Amino acid sequence: MSDYDIAFNEFIKKRGFFWQTADLYGGLAGFYDYGHLGTLIKRNWETIWIDYFLNLGDNYYLIESSNILPEAVLKASGHVDHFTDVLVECSKCKETYRGDHLIEEKIELKEELTDLDVIFKYIQDLKIVCDKCGGTLRKPMDFNMMFPLIVGSTGKDKGYLRPETAQGAYLNFYREFNALRRKIPMGLAIIGKAFRNEISPRQGFFRVREFTQAELQIFHDPKNFNELFDFKSVKDYKMNVCLVKDRVEGEFKKISCKELLKITGLPEFYIYHMAKIQQFYFDILQIPKEKFRFYEKSDKERAFYNQIHFDLEVNFQQLKGFKEVGGLHYRGDYDLSCHQKGSSKKLSIKIDDGRKILLNVLELSFGVDRNVLALLDSNFYIEDGRNILRIPPYLAPYHVGIFPLQKKDNLDEKAKEIYRTLRKKFRAFYDEVGSIGKRYARLDEIGVPYCITVDYETLDKKNPDFDTVTIRFRDSKEQIRVNVGDLIDWLENKIKLNL
Ligand code: ATP
Repeated sequence: MSDYDIAFNEFIKKRGFFWQTADLYGGLAGFYDYGHLGTLIKRNWETIWIDYFLNLGDNYYLIESSNILPEAVLKASGHVDHFTDVLVECSKCKETYRGDHLIEEKIELKEELTDLDVIFKYIQDLKIVCDKCGGTLRKPMDFNMMFPLIVGSTGKDKGYLRPETAQGAYLNFYREFNALRRKIPMGLAIIGKAFRNEISPRQGFFRVREFTQAELQIFHDPKNFNELFDFKSVKDYKMNVCLVKDRVEGEFKKISCKELLKITGLPEFYIYHMAKIQQFYFDILQIPKEKFRFYEKSDKERAFYNQIHFDLEVNFQQLKGFKEVGGLHYRGDYDLSCHQKGSSKKLSIKIDDGRKILLNVLELSFGVDRNVLALLDSNFYIEDGRNILRIPPYLAPYHVGIFPLQKKDNLDEKAKEIYRTLRKKFRAFYDEVGSIGKRYARLDEIGVPYCITVDYETLDKKNPDFDTVTIRFRDSKEQIRVNVGDLIDWLENKIKLNL
């Protein structure tokens, strides 16, 4: 592990962002709890995601659906039969591995592996043995990643923890369509938990068994979907894209939307949404521009129902490379048609021109926890031996710190008075312990963008700086003086996010 990795891991634990669930009892692989600071950042991310993506259309809504689904739903969606990963077991100690990952760790592959025989051949050719005991590895097999459940006391009702939030939107589509304005396109977004019994969650917080997804399903008529978005407004916008045909480890090309349309023949609406997603990463999350890319999935790699699939990837310092944090999936009418068949209920709708159709779905899918990790990873710096989290102000766990220069001479009283006023509007943190330098350092480390100090000038009626405070900036260390009466407006201006 590099010094950076050690410092980053220490910072995450010490400052309470997240840690393993039940670590008192030795933990449970693939499960994590968020501490206070992690929870605040996650909530900020979710709020901003809702504000940004629900604003992409004027008929997009947020819903919440159950974590547990009956077996019939997941049978119809294909998850019971096909939601599998490749499991490889050690013949001696029974340790399990994800087959494709075992090979990716050894050699650079141009394409993800899915075929069991091909994976086994690689294991044999590369002489891969059990990492734990050196035993030989058995022939790979498919392993279903859902957590089964028995619901109720009779033992008859079988269910599963949902493996994705998306199913909630497909199941509620028809009711929402009728309850709302019977208008298309209609977007249904869900932020909620998903559960996958990952075979070997060895990448810490990145690959877990219980995680949060933020997904927007846009139900539309494919016939006129292109016309609904202003492609011209993004045509010259340059995208970071890695196409299947020019895959190179860790690289991407900058291609304008117009050019991408010409090279790939992708529909305009798809490229338009790619641009909106990249703008979310660049302009809102402020992920550095060289650290984000779209990664095209090949015919073999993408699920059979995805007609077009690009992953959203962030280059993680800690994980040494580009990793998936989301996906843009064009799913056609697969979802509504399989639930129509599975439930024997009509899900087609009559649209304005009289046609009765099953709507198609464009899915924007994000892993919230991976995005929180990406924010921490890309904003964590070590400068002069001190940690700084340079997270954008509207994503920071606290907006402002308030300190008295010293805990005496009424400085603390005045600082507390300011704190009590500000905390009604902002997330404010009061600190009077230790030197001012140490207090700045503590708040820099958790990403607080502004710190206010009440000093002797604040209280001195004869001083020109009477009734002003010092505001110190986390990133530049610059200090300015602001009137106490102007603090709310000043902070509001600095913290607001213009979508
Ligand atoms: P992976 O290839 O990493 O297993 P996936 O392609 O199966 O992920 P999707 O089914 O497209 O993932 O899910 C959408 C998003 O949910 C992913 O892009 C990712 O951000 C998140 N996600 C999926 N699986 C996990 C997991 N085990 N832990 C944390 N986040 C996950």
